[in-house]
Amino acid sequence: EAAPASEKVYQIGTDTTFAPFEFQDVNGKYVGIDMELMEAIAKDQNFKFEIKSLGFNAAVQALESNQVDGVIAGMSITNERKQKFDFSDPYFDSGVIMAVREDNNEVTNYEDLKGKKVAVKTGTEGYTFAESVSSKYGFTIVPFDDSSQMYDDVKTGNSVACFDDYPVLAYGVKQKNGLKTVTDKEKGASYGFAVSKGQNKELLEKFNAGLTNLRANGEYQKLLDKYLGKNA
Ligand code: GLN
Repeated sequence: EAAPASEKVYQIGTDTTFAPFEFQDVNGKYVGIDMELMEAIAKDQNFKFEIKSLGFNAAVQALESNQVDGVIAGMSITNERKQKFDFSDPYFDSGVIMAVREDNNEVTNYEDLKGKKVAVKTGTEGYTFAESVSSKYGFTIVPFDDSSQMYDDVKTGNSVACFDDYPVLAYGVKQKNGLKTVTDKEKGASYGFAVSKGQNKELLEKFNAGLTNLRANGEYQKLLDKYLGKNA
């Protein structure tokens, strides 16, 4: 049965490069845990959506100004964000970790950051964490819009370290992105799908219902295994 022309197509904002949650495959198609979770939920709950690859901070701002209907971008459910957004049930546990260039054996803890530059992504938990300890450890923050620019700044040696989400850095390091993690991860929030406060209530309900179904039928675990390996 063809969809009626008036059927709502939800606009969903996301980050540009945040593998294994959202990234482009060799054909330019958006893939990853968030992308495929959204597809599977939309199929299960029978709704249509379009992905807008805006960058993390831009996606969050677009949601705040109602230019998109929702955001899925490895977005942490923080108390501060809960003032502005309604979140789905949590679907992935995360946390921030520090990485340095793989050949750097000088910087192994936060004390070693003294007088140095540290790359972070604007508007993220990693940024907030770096900001919270920057004066204590005496480092300067260099902000970027996406994770790949942030990693490049560490690889070229302008910044000695970066802070990003643990599962993303762990995945990147495994793909030989030129970095290595050197600290334990900081306690972080879980990821959730977000809509503007009081808006798109039915979309949030469908997301939660779909997530529950995909957890029950094992599809969600299969998706995690696909990107993170078994025992993820
Ligand atoms: N989980 C982090 C946050 O919500 C980073 C998300 C991202 O960079 N896409 O702030």
